[in-house]
Amino acid sequence: MKKLIILFLTFLIVFALGTAFTVFSQTNRLRDNSYHIYIDPGHGGFDGGAVGNETAEKAITLAIGLKLARYLQRTGFRVSLTRDDDFALANNKRDDIYKRVALINGSDASLYVSIHANSFPVKSVRGAQTFYNPLWEENRHLAAAIQNMLYAADPMNKRLAKAIFGKYLIDEVTVVGCLVEVGFLTNPEECDKLNTNEYQEKIALMIYSGILNFLEKYGEI
Ligand SMILES: [Zn+2]
Repeated sequence: MKKLIILFLTFLIVFALGTAFTVFSQTNRLRDNSYHIYIDPGHGGFDGGAVGNETAEKAITLAIGLKLARYLQRTGFRVSLTRDDDFALANNKRDDIYKRVALINGSDASLYVSIHANSFPVKSVRGAQTFYNPLWEENRHLAAAIQNMLYAADPMNKRLAKAIFGKYLIDEVTVVGCLVEVGFLTNPEECDKLNTNEYQEKIALMIYSGILNFLEKYGEI
């Protein structure tokens, strides 16, 4: 019995140390002043993602991802993209998402942003929204910082940053970050806007500003 208790206590200590180390290394990445941002434009190639009003999600996520990369690069950030053209990272969806997670986790990225667009059977549903893994406080702060800026881009968008479980990428990535659903392709008005260069720039700029606001507060800029 005594042995069992010792074993259990050892397990608890190892678990606590493991958690403390994870939190410590997360924070450390945010103290690095040569920020490296990983951008993940969702879908690509054979995987078009959601479709609405004849628009494929993969095209919108790539356009916004590339614009966001440009804003970051112009101001001295190091940037990586999981894709910079219309291709998938594997020939099936499961391996594609594994690859994205491996790329981000295997990098020295300070933070990541995954970009997606939504669809819903009810046409009136609209608005951009950020999602985050609530395991780390930093994720919530980053998602909220970006969400605040998205509201500035379109005051019609009254959504709030939302914690989410069960999305493989969000669950498995160990770098601070969040997923941005840039709007609903199934809402005709929002889809029209998402197809314009001007609105894509605006969304990219808002995500960029959200990242800056977050780093100003929680990193070292
Ligand atoms: Zn998607």
